[in-house]
Amino acid sequence: MPREFSLKNTRNIGIMAHIDAGKTTTTERILYYTGRTHKIGEVHEGAATMDWMEQEQERGITITSAATTAQWKGHRINIIDTPGHVDFTVEVERSLRVLDGAVTVLDAKSGVEPQTETVWRQATTYGVPRIVYVNKMDIIGADFLKSVKTIEDRLQAKPVPIQLPIGAEDQFEGIIDLITMEAYYYLDDLGTRAEAREIPDEYKELAEEWRTKLVESVAELDEELMMKYLEGEEITNEEIKTALRQGTINVEVFPVLCGSSYKNKGVQLMLDAVIDYLPSPIDIPAIKGTLEDGSEAERPADDNAPFSALAFKIMTDPYVGKLTFFRVYSGILNSGSYVLNSTKGKRERIGRILQMHANHREEISTVYSGDIAAAVGLKDTTTGDTLCDEKEVIVLESMEFPEPVIRLSVEPKTKADQDKMAMALAKLAEEDPTFKTHTDEETGQTIIAGMGELHLDIIVDRLKREFKVEANVGAPQVAYKETIRTAAKVEGKFVRQSGGRGQYGHVWIEFEPLEPGKGFEFENKIVGGVVPREYIPAVQ
Ligand code: GDP
Repeated sequence: MPREFSLKNTRNIGIMAHIDAGKTTTTERILYYTGRTHKIGEVHEGAATMDWMEQEQERGITITSAATTAQWKGHRINIIDTPGHVDFTVEVERSLRVLDGAVTVLDAKSGVEPQTETVWRQATTYGVPRIVYVNKMDIIGADFLKSVKTIEDRLQAKPVPIQLPIGAEDQFEGIIDLITMEAYYYLDDLGTRAEAREIPDEYKELAEEWRTKLVESVAELDEELMMKYLEGEEITNEEIKTALRQGTINVEVFPVLCGSSYKNKGVQLMLDAVIDYLPSPIDIPAIKGTLEDGSEAERPADDNAPFSALAFKIMTDPYVGKLTFFRVYSGILNSGSYVLNSTKGKRERIGRILQMHANHREEISTVYSGDIAAAVGLKDTTTGDTLCDEKEVIVLESMEFPEPVIRLSVEPKTKADQDKMAMALAKLAEEDPTFKTHTDEETGQTIIAGMGELHLDIIVDRLKREFKVEANVGAPQVAYKETIRTAAKVEGKFVRQSGGRGQYGHVWIEFEPLEPGKGFEFENKIVGGVVPREYIPAVQ
């Protein structure tokens, strides 16, 4: 099977947001416009296409990180689902590891919210280029420019609006493109018919003002453009787009767009921006890894390079069983071939390879570099493992998973279910590297450990639903939080294992200097967990 899309025309993106900002609705609309779903499901009714598991729909959150393949204007866009709930930030991290760019969805009334900050910080850590989509322009209180300001104020990032809304709230009727200087009006409810018109008179001044700001921001990114700008020469739209694309890929600036996914306005223009500004696999540095002799090597996104891939998600699918989602970094992979899981030193046979579309799964025979797919039937591979050519062994930079911060004892309501429960827990731990289970040596109790109360709630829920084991749980034991002052001069953030063993056990804590580089005060955060106030001791 030949390559359907060139590497240059491939985008691997995530959509990240604070809960309720409209990530699911936006994703659904993307799948609708990219022609893979035939009807717009109502998220209100819980018919979200990306949410696989029943309980996710009931809880209205997305826990899993599946990947869906779509196409737009001759490009392949793989959407890697990133969960929005704070208890699952580690799931966000694992998706960030394999995507090349992201769309940050904001609520136009609230702007940047606490979880936006969390996922933004994680994306920054992984150097992920982003565009920002200010959604819900139709709701009461929607304010585009105020939302843009929150990007500066709360994220200390440089937003570059490339659009302006025409109207807001129930008067939101179109979008001004500050590059082409045209106004887009939507002519039907599904947003499939849009018309470019002249910018309305009452918006001309505002549009000129923001166009000038856009040109200034772009000139700052490129010396040649700055010279032109200072000398009053005209900067073409192509030059603007090229410089903005480079600035976005370098994670220096963040183009900002607006829309209302629910009202079907702005999603297609946002897809255009994904193609225009977010990187393809060849626009970003090649992944690094370690060879058998301990030396470091790179694996460029190139079909002719040796095969290397990273498994980033294990899921149990109701139809085909265990699915291992992986991203191919270099080379190609054929179904029916053998690869090496170099992390575990085990040979694996690749059976069927599937690619997930919004409403169907496609069996494919070859996966090319830069693409994402799922393999059926891998036995020993878990999240974070490298798969590679047996003759060109490499272990790619892997993901680090924080230690669980909360633990509970569980016992089956029916004693006879003990073995069944142990097997179920082992299976769940295989899917989820942040979920651990063990037997306490002193008490003989089964202990489960995870990233937060909701995380363990869901595990207990899955025991019941998927494995038909009802369990009683003991009181949660939670890790504590501490704040440390130190004179050490530290750049960036670091993670260390807490000294306190005590009743809460060891925990992993992430420290971040309150004033980067100055290094005297740190506020830590337990990675991913929600910690009750009473466990937070005073400043030492
Ligand atoms: P998520 O938690 O970020 O995935 O958010 P959802 O997509 O589930 O959206 C949360 C709620 O906001 C749902 O009731 C959506 O129907 C609604 N919603 C999403 N986008 C818009 C929008 O553009 N306008 C309006 N009015 N409602 C929206």
